[in-house]
Amino acid sequence: MSQNETLFARAQRVIPGGVNSPVRAFRAVGGTPRFITRGEGAHIVDADGKRYIDYIGSWGPMILGHGHPAVLEAVQKAALDGFSFGAPTEREVELAEEILGLVPSCEQIRLVSSGTEATMSAIRLARGATQRSKFIKFEGCYHGHTDALLVKAGSGLATFGHPTSAGVPEATAQHTIVLEYNNVAQLDEAFALHGPELACVIVEPIAGNMNFVRASVPFMTRLRELCRRHGALLVLDEVMTGFRVGLRSAQGLYADLIPGFVPDISVFGKVIGGGMPLAAFGASREIMRHLAPLGGVYQAGTLSGNPVATACGLATLREIRKPGFFDALSAKTRRLVDGLKRVADENGVPFSVDSEGGMFGFFLMSELPQNYTTVMTTDKERFNRFFHAMLDAGVYLAPALYEAGFVSAAHTDADIDATLEAARQALR
Ligand SMILES: *Cc1c(COP(=O)(O)O)cnc(C)c1O
Repeated sequence: MSQNETLFARAQRVIPGGVNSPVRAFRAVGGTPRFITRGEGAHIVDADGKRYIDYIGSWGPMILGHGHPAVLEAVQKAALDGFSFGAPTEREVELAEEILGLVPSCEQIRLVSSGTEATMSAIRLARGATQRSKFIKFEGCYHGHTDALLVKAGSGLATFGHPTSAGVPEATAQHTIVLEYNNVAQLDEAFALHGPELACVIVEPIAGNMNFVRASVPFMTRLRELCRRHGALLVLDEVMTGFRVGLRSAQGLYADLIPGFVPDISVFGKVIGGGMPLAAFGASREIMRHLAPLGGVYQAGTLSGNPVATACGLATLREIRKPGFFDALSAKTRRLVDGLKRVADENGVPFSVDSEGGMFGFFLMSELPQNYTTVMTTDKERFNRFFHAMLDAGVYLAPALYEAGFVSAAHTDADIDATLEAARQALR
């Protein structure tokens, strides 16, 4: 037995399914998950000593690669001063100032420990601020594992959603309306039916939890208009896209494409913690004043704004805002996806790719899908064969066809060339 197999067997005895987050279990692709012992730049090493080029990057946070010297130094220094005080620290203020300086749509921000917590709190804030209960989400967008967000579409737009997880009461799902991503007609219809009762719409501006699907400009334009007209708040879940697709996040990209585009509430995570448990939600002062201790919307956290996590996040943000960082990262990512497309074309494999900043997606279909239903028509067997061939060749891609991929600043041209060569063999 390999060390990975031994560890997985041991893990399954003491941890349900052997993992602390389901997608790590490789259930979608089969096989044994790799137990990672360490990371170095763009590479990770498993328990059998095998080295991989890492395109997961902890599902987004590791935008600088593993063990960036400036981040390591900041974390080590912070740890020496203490792990947690449950009292305010200057570093929280610094991180809030840093984020707000890069996100003009937010005037204030609250730090929490996970993306799940941040989106849950953002929904509560939207409900508290509007004094309404219902909200819209879209199929294929993931916003963490809060009860009200683990919901799939009901039978029609006049009906509410159904839980996608056991343990979520039907009643909890009853305020959640689930629509198809990029479907403007459904949006119009849902607002016509429920407009005055909607607290908010929550959306991933570039969906990274159904591989990589952009919100179309007409869709985002209409969404912004309808929210404004009906007094519903537009919540952009940028937990994945924030500081990953560009320094101004996805909202910066849409502001360039749609005049006057600005979200009401923004949610961040992943990159802002640089690999430590840290997330945040922010908005105008007018909206944020509803939060405790100023207002009636309760929200709290023992480890919120943790001193070591904020040091890690700050050091990461200070690196990525250096001039030219995203130009170089975007060029690298494009080199990867253009290369994959070329290799697929050479082998006559239907293939489409998209990327933005350090985030990418590839599909085993000739045209980029626009919604979850289309993403899920992917030839699963073919994807799984490709995934395992790449893994054997030392390329660590996401173990499911509905996940996005991530390139870090530490990936070299040689890493990308090696990846393309592996893909050439795998697709042959
Ligand atoms: C990862 C993710 C979350 C959940 O964040 P966790 O830190 O895993 O709780 C929420 N929304 C989006 C868009 C994400 O990608």
